[in-house]
Amino acid sequence: MTEVSLIERCIKPEILALEPYVVPSAQGMIKLDAMENPFQWPGELYQEWVKSLAAVSLNRYPDARAKVLEERLCAVYDLPQACEVLFGNGSDELIQMILMALAGSEPVVMALSPSFVMYAMIAQVVGCRYEPLALDADFQLSSTEAEQCIKRTQPAVIFVAQPNNPTGTVLDPNVIETILRVAPGLVVLDEAYCAFTEVDYTPWLKCYENLLVMRTFSKIGLAGVRLGYLLGAKVWLDQLNKIRLPYNINTLTQCSVSFALDHSDVLERQSQLIQAQRVYLQQQLSELPGLKQWPSQANFILFRVTVKAADRVHAQLKAQGVLIKCLHGSHPALAQCLRVTVGSAEENTRFLTALKKLLIS
Ligand SMILES: *Cc1c(COP(=O)(O)O)cnc(C)c1O
Repeated sequence: MTEVSLIERCIKPEILALEPYVVPSAQGMIKLDAMENPFQWPGELYQEWVKSLAAVSLNRYPDARAKVLEERLCAVYDLPQACEVLFGNGSDELIQMILMALAGSEPVVMALSPSFVMYAMIAQVVGCRYEPLALDADFQLSSTEAEQCIKRTQPAVIFVAQPNNPTGTVLDPNVIETILRVAPGLVVLDEAYCAFTEVDYTPWLKCYENLLVMRTFSKIGLAGVRLGYLLGAKVWLDQLNKIRLPYNINTLTQCSVSFALDHSDVLERQSQLIQAQRVYLQQQLSELPGLKQWPSQANFILFRVTVKAADRVHAQLKAQGVLIKCLHGSHPALAQCLRVTVGSAEENTRFLTALKKLLIS
């Protein structure tokens, strides 16, 4: 037995106070809780990918700067000229790198509220102070509110997910413009869901010197490889690159994503299918009684149940083999809210059938 006092002497109080990030088991279930892409690659492509992996030298360290991968990325996506790329082991690692770089003894980190939980969680781990930028009941924000909140708290960095998670909503570009203009430090626009929306702030990189845009391969079919990337001016990324652990992007990831980029048409078609399924789900949900949904531009839909407790709906869906996310209790604005990831046509039908039965009975 290790002495409790020894643990308390060695571990930072903010870590002792933290709840671990729990991922529920989804074995044998229709998994609509984590914004994954439901599709496999066609058989031939899968075989080709396996072959490409066989050429990798596992005894060697990865390419430290992932140059081949970077070239593919820039060739396939139309990224702005004069903008650099920094890779992370998922965008979660990039968030961590940004927060570890901030000056001051307790730098202020701001993010929309509610939003992706990792901003606040990593802030706590690395000793930053988290300040919410509160959204209204429809998850919108006025320029005035944004300006007042930013001026009052002087954040070193502001994370704005567009579309936002878990709401699926986007802000008016004028509000984003205000945030960029009044921010005393960095602004990171998190475009994790860019494959499912027209919203794209990368053209703004050349206009705002305090802007970074962050993206990930997780939501477009490659959650298992863990690759995120940050776009921005070399002067910023050169500094952040010093914090990056050497070889943070493993060889199998570099190889697999380079391969996927060579077949980006497949990823693109899958994202189109998911968008079409989202429209179908939105339309079906709108016909159900006792339910309010918010307009989503991502691969998930946030909705509130008004006739039954959200945690009961969640548990009853789970009992029928459908796993979605219950957000009730995570934030006051998300009371009685659930979030469903858009799956394949078959998965969505299974979800809708189960939900209908629950809400109508
Ligand atoms: C899923 C998600 C991420 C995390 O992406 P990884 O690359 O898997 O770490 C980042 N930001 C938002 C808003 C997300 O929803």
